[in-house]
Amino acid sequence: MPRPKKSRLRRVLVGVLAFCVGLIGGGGAIGCCVFSAPGHSGPATDHFDGEKFSNQVPVEHAGFCEFLGWQLTAEPGAWEDVSDAKPGQKPPARVGKGELRITFVGHATTLVQMDGKNVLTDPIWSERASPVSFAGPKRVRPPGIRFEDLPSIDAVVVSHSHYDHLDMPTLKRLHAAHRPRFFVGLGNRQLLEADGIDRVTELDWWEHVDLGDGVVVHSVPAQHFSGRGLCDRDVTLWMGYVLRGPGGVVYFAGDTAMGPHFEQVRQRFGAPRLAILPIGAYLPRWFMQRVHVSPAEAVEAHQILGAEQSVAVHFGTFNLGDDGQQQAPEELREALRKRGVDAASFWVLGFGEGRPIRRK
Ligand code: ZN
Ligand code: ZN
Repeated sequence: MPRPKKSRLRRVLVGVLAFCVGLIGGGGAIGCCVFSAPGHSGPATDHFDGEKFSNQVPVEHAGFCEFLGWQLTAEPGAWEDVSDAKPGQKPPARVGKGELRITFVGHATTLVQMDGKNVLTDPIWSERASPVSFAGPKRVRPPGIRFEDLPSIDAVVVSHSHYDHLDMPTLKRLHAAHRPRFFVGLGNRQLLEADGIDRVTELDWWEHVDLGDGVVVHSVPAQHFSGRGLCDRDVTLWMGYVLRGPGGVVYFAGDTAMGPHFEQVRQRFGAPRLAILPIGAYLPRWFMQRVHVSPAEAVEAHQILGAEQSVAVHFGTFNLGDDGQQQAPEELREALRKRGVDAASFWVLGFGEGRPIRRK
């Protein structure tokens, strides 16, 4: 059901805030530099010109007029508040060597347990994906796992600087409660350290760090962008991650559009045992396809990767596109059917649901 017209002004205002802080495909220098990150300084590379980062496949970012055009003409799908949803069961403390388990917390937040290590992806427990607590995209459901129910966390991988992925209040809570290692893309370390977080490692694409117990964290390219304010567009690096250990290869895509990276990941690491792929905030396609895959493209990515098991994320928690709350998972099921892919190989987990990945 389309949203009532009376909310359009509010949507435009919230959208402008989200656009300005770079949450939804836009952002740009239109005045002040509040909330902006300091960025990376270092030698130029094939994806860094000394000031800004770029994608492997260069893409023109949406401008403010394009964004406003979307906001004024959008027919957004329905979302309902489920803030009374019950949390899932407390995950196990750890899994043993060779074992692999995933718990879907919500949005791009998952708990990956492998080989005795506990790793969180893009953790967000905050009420809003925003630089301020009083405005910006608000969660429609609580995190699927209570923060207090988390097992001891060894590492946190952060894919990029957008507020729905790099949530400072959550990172600070994790630092205080678990003292994990934090992995971020080039240019983001200062942001965390300015808030008193240590044990932060910055990575360029294709770098790796040993986590112990035979588990290695690898950073891999994504097709996206970055920014937290009006003046820091693309000054920090966006990425996905591969966790490789006795338990196999786990690929976390972060936020991404289609690009050569899926094939590259398969070539370098082999077919993942588990791929964590985004499916939501994909409409309208003319606006979102530069930065977010659609559910059908996520299925294509699953096939390119040759993933034994994929798990869908980035839907149903924050309303960031025109897709309705259930639309991305529904579209995913349809895309799996159309492509003749076994639906059991691409899970849509419940919020807070955890499952072991069995060897196939
Ligand atoms: Zn993003
Ligand atoms: Zn996102």
